[in-house]
Amino acid sequence: MSISRRDFLGAGAAAAAGLALPTLAGAEPVISNIVDRAARPAPRPASRPVIISAANGMEKDPEGKQGIKVAWDLLAGGADPLDAIVAGVNVVELNPNDQSVGLGGLPDEDGVVQVDASCMHGPSKRAGAVGCLEDIADAAAVAKAVMDFTDHIFLVGEGAKRFAIEMGFKPQNLLTDKSRRDWLRWKADLNPDDNWLNLPARRPAGAPKGGRGGRDDETLQQSLHVYYDARGVPHTYGTINMNVVTASGDIASVTTTSGLSWKIPGRVGDSPIIGAGQYCDNEVGAAGSTGRGEANMKVCGGFLAVEFMRQGMSPTEACMKVMERVVAMTESRLLDEHGRPYFDLQYYAVNKKGEYGAAMAYQGADPDHPTSFAVCDDKGARLEPFAYMYTYDQRPKGRPMSGTLVIPK
Ligand code: ASP
Repeated sequence: MSISRRDFLGAGAAAAAGLALPTLAGAEPVISNIVDRAARPAPRPASRPVIISAANGMEKDPEGKQGIKVAWDLLAGGADPLDAIVAGVNVVELNPNDQSVGLGGLPDEDGVVQVDASCMHGPSKRAGAVGCLEDIADAAAVAKAVMDFTDHIFLVGEGAKRFAIEMGFKPQNLLTDKSRRDWLRWKADLNPDDNWLNLPARRPAGAPKGGRGGRDDETLQQSLHVYYDARGVPHTYGTINMNVVTASGDIASVTTTSGLSWKIPGRVGDSPIIGAGQYCDNEVGAAGSTGRGEANMKVCGGFLAVEFMRQGMSPTEACMKVMERVVAMTESRLLDEHGRPYFDLQYYAVNKKGEYGAAMAYQGADPDHPTSFAVCDDKGARLEPFAYMYTYDQRPKGRPMSGTLVIPK
């Protein structure tokens, strides 16, 4: 089925302009001091359809055939919104150079890649998820299959894999040679008394020890979401979350990841948890997260962002307000002497009007190149900078800022 350009763009934009969001009786928009102080871009005009996502791959290759463009083209052709974004994130899942999602993801501590994903379909109020799925790159599509073909919502481990194979997904080893070598480097350097000889680090030229890098690194070129520890071993905290609002105001969301690098086998992050990694309410909007899942899970960040939008906050304000809740809910061992977290986290949100926004805890790794998220609307696909709570200079010194922590001794 195809739809006319007027149906795709015009009717949606007109409807978006006059739409009021449902508000909880008595709820006041609460904008805290932190949110007031933090950097917030001017409100973005509402326009539908719109897709917002993590920028995986786009930072390095803005003109390439990126997932968000694939999703947009499918939407323009009349595809269901969730089908469109599941196909969009699949571009990243199948890209072996993105070491934070699907094929080529950095493995767990046993060298096994376990992937997590979840999705929600606003118009039909359905959800699906998979966790600790092995040997299948298309985790988001498997999550959608759980939604489409079962009476369950969440399958994990061996059962999730068996289900995926029954659904026709092809098993393959997700550990690429590159990720296997990184795993060996990490493993060899864990214990000074073991019998492993340390392999040369592959920290790229110019990337600081114990800092983030990646711009000059050929093998990790698809992702800036890389932290090099003091030994030059990469840690990833990528993940892709994608959210869409169609011309007529239908909403869908999806998140897919290989999770934190070197995790304990069986660890499930926030990405497959409905309400944490992503959430969608067709009356209000959608939101999702990337970054330290352990921090997001405790605040049910996807759900909370949607609830803040329901109370009347803009998507950016909602994301910042969730970030504030994350800091408030962080145990002291993970906060520096100023109460700032030793990790980073990103939120992405859209509302039913087609307004969108994204926020992260810290300004980014490089003050000259603001960290960005991806957006696609009738003006095309582009990168826009995150709002942030703390500036680059406020990052705790000498501490990794990825989802993977080195706890101060
Ligand atoms: N949120 C993901 C997880 O905790 C990882 C990430 O986005 O970096 O598994």
